Amino acid sequence: MSKDLRALADELNDAFAKADLPARLRLFRDALDGQIVFTTSLGIEDQALTRAIRTQDLDVAIATLDTGRLFPETYDLWAKTEEQYGFRIKPYYPQAEAIQALVADQGINGFYYGLDMRKACCNVRKVEPLGRALAGAQGWVVGLRGDQSDHRSHLRFVEFDEARGLIKASPLLDFTRDDVAAYCEANDVPVNALHEKGFVSIGCAPCTRAIKPGEPERAGRWWWESEDKKECGLHVAADGSLLRAKELAQS
Ligand code: SF4
Repeated sequence: MSKDLRALADELNDAFAKADLPARLRLFRDALDGQIVFTTSLGIEDQALTRAIRTQDLDVAIATLDTGRLFPETYDLWAKTEEQYGFRIKPYYPQAEAIQALVADQGINGFYYGLDMRKACCNVRKVEPLGRALAGAQGWVVGLRGDQSDHRSHLRFVEFDEARGLIKASPLLDFTRDDVAAYCEANDVPVNALHEKGFVSIGCAPCTRAIKPGEPERAGRWWWESEDKKECGLHVAADGSLLRAKELAQS
């Protein structure tokens, strides 16, 4: 099975290069027999993908990880998106027992006080729920862009995700942020009100800040940590290692 999925990923990668955004998503849906899950963080890239999926009525499950620490503006956008496109985003929450134990152990904002504590919080609030969101899926759609980091510039549109045993598609890989913004503006796609206030990559409220002009997109995430320590755990490289936060601007 893995060998078949690898070959399919190669074929789709070539096909994506010649297709526009809606066609890429159709190609992906048509090529896979099993379930496809799109995990949205409600960032601007993911909003563009939601629009492309919903307006084509594609059979792609749209899920989000509600960490319990999102911005009020993100919840507002979640509701607005459901209303505009007439569907429900499937939420995945942390396990109650795990989150109770985490907060009892490290406090409500323990993630500021050590890398291990921050990773423990991301594991309980994001990584474990992501595993449930992708359980049984054959395909995974994500909103990565190639110009977000050196590493991402070497990614492919479609890759076999060894760690999760599924095919991962990045239909926006060759889009710039301006391309995505233009697509959203031209198609009346709702976006997070925080983008206008300097928030580029928007994750959990206590771990996200606005960036200054000229700062890299990743600078607003986990800003108190050194770059080489920024790991989240949602995206895993082919060799099984975690991708650094600069490769995770949308996570
Ligand atoms: Fe916890 Fe911050 Fe990770 Fe969100 S981004 S799960 S609040 S450490």
